[in-house]
Amino acid sequence: MRVAQIIRETDAEGPGCRFAVWVQGCPMRCRGCCNPTMLLENSELPGVRWYGVAELLRGLAESAAEGVTLLGGEPFAQPAALARFAEGAQGLGRSVMIFTGFTLAELRARRDPATEALLSATDLLVDGRYDDTQRSTDRRFIGSANQVLHFLSSRYDPLDPRLHTQNHLEIRVRRDHITLNGWPIAGVGTAQRLLDGAARRPRGQGS
Ligand code: SF4
Repeated sequence: MRVAQIIRETDAEGPGCRFAVWVQGCPMRCRGCCNPTMLLENSELPGVRWYGVAELLRGLAESAAEGVTLLGGEPFAQPAALARFAEGAQGLGRSVMIFTGFTLAELRARRDPATEALLSATDLLVDGRYDDTQRSTDRRFIGSANQVLHFLSSRYDPLDPRLHTQNHLEIRVRRDHITLNGWPIAGVGTAQRLLDGAARRPRGQGS
């Protein structure tokens, strides 16, 4: 699968510690998308590369994350490979959360076996395009009021406090670049001022 970035342990992309995979490529063009560099399928940007399912699962097995979060980019633009990864993650006892720009109804209407397989291996789904006219910070992990958090399995309780605490931003300083992930709307301006002059690669919830 075509991947833009992986953070092996983050607390900003779903409940608990997550193994977060930002896929590369999205057919939508939401105004205000926080990850515009992840829209082109064939991007040659540094860091974008193909991963096999087994390679990702090895990385996940070595991680302490309680679950995987798939975002981007558009995970349902690559449903077959991601379904195998999500099934493997659940086989390791990990949960699966996905951010998609499609609505759940649109995905069901595809009647596509790979899409159904990926949905079947998903515990939490945040669906719908990001609509900057409905931007919202009221609900954790959800960027605009039209988007919905679906509980596709019984693994998470809708009252789980981790789904209702405040969004936050994570900043990682690496040898040759800096990454931002989590909630870019509230904090990215401040963070970018702090990091003025340094190389940076902002990454937030993708849809
Ligand atoms: S917000 Fe999500 S669905 Fe919309 S263009 Fe960006 S990555 Fe695609």
